[in-house]
Amino acid sequence: MDPRGFPTSLPEFQRVFPDEAACAKYLEAVRWPDGFICHKCGHKDEPYRIRTTAPIVFRCRSCKLGTSLTAGTVMDHTRTPLSIWFWGAYLVTTQTPGQSALQFQRQLGLSRYETAFQILHKLRAGMVRPERDGIGGEHPVEVDECLVGGRTRGEGRGVHHKATVVGAVEVRLRKDAEDRAAKHKAAHDGGVPLKKLYYAGRLRLRVVDGRGAEGLTRFISENIAPGSLIRTDGWHSYERLPSLGFEHAPLDLNGDPEKAEQHLPMIHLVFSNLKTWILGTHHGCIAQHHLQAYLNEYVFRFNRRFYPMTAFNSVLGLAARSESATYAELYSGTWAHPAA
Ligand SMILES: [Zn+2]
Repeated sequence: MDPRGFPTSLPEFQRVFPDEAACAKYLEAVRWPDGFICHKCGHKDEPYRIRTTAPIVFRCRSCKLGTSLTAGTVMDHTRTPLSIWFWGAYLVTTQTPGQSALQFQRQLGLSRYETAFQILHKLRAGMVRPERDGIGGEHPVEVDECLVGGRTRGEGRGVHHKATVVGAVEVRLRKDAEDRAAKHKAAHDGGVPLKKLYYAGRLRLRVVDGRGAEGLTRFISENIAPGSLIRTDGWHSYERLPSLGFEHAPLDLNGDPEKAEQHLPMIHLVFSNLKTWILGTHHGCIAQHHLQAYLNEYVFRFNRRFYPMTAFNSVLGLAARSESATYAELYSGTWAHPAA
């Protein structure tokens, strides 16, 4: 089991969420961790439970207002069982990336393609929203560009539709970096590889119109916190970073791949994995107008790879109080509040 407690296998997931009642209890615990509170009159008491099947409705004992258990989530106003939604959210956030609605339909055992398509569409909407807060700050940021995509079906050889993608990734020092360095030095001669000491923090990716200064610097200004240390290669488009309030560490790579590896290891690793993902999932063919949505989905997964439960709650529209049902409670089955 993952140390953070979220199910890491399908059987485990089924054990935690075996049926509609288990899913409903989880929703209730996440939405009202301290027990039901009426959002209209603020009355705090065990509500009447008008319906016990979807859509589950609670009614305030004081003002009699009914509140749907799924109000404000992606599951609101659907007749699809909660367990299907939960299963879908689990697949979307943990399994094969970028799956098709057809695969999704088969995995969920749904008879109608349209249902699978709608569920997948709603779950993915939460993943393709651009992330807004600035990365960096205390962590240095590596920035670079790459080309992704390939030939469009039906066109001849030599017709390329490669898109330029700019990326920024935080370089974070591991908490146990000193121990790792000491262990490595004891076992090997020479310097400690950077990957032993650092890991990739938060990521941002954007499709830009070529490598011009305007697009690259706008991306940086909109995605990286002012004052952050930014590492780039020697490309002239990055020259104005100091005047925009960033600390700039450019390196003239002179086309030397080894130097690049040392100066920008994290973003190169990200680009390499991104290209593998695009090739594996989409056979390298992504319509240009869809590419940014794919990149946002990639970034969503990447930034939550250590927090599967946050990702799960987020796609279901449960982001607000997602940390309130603790993992221990989840596993013991006590996350429904005592009155339930
Ligand atoms: Zn009320």
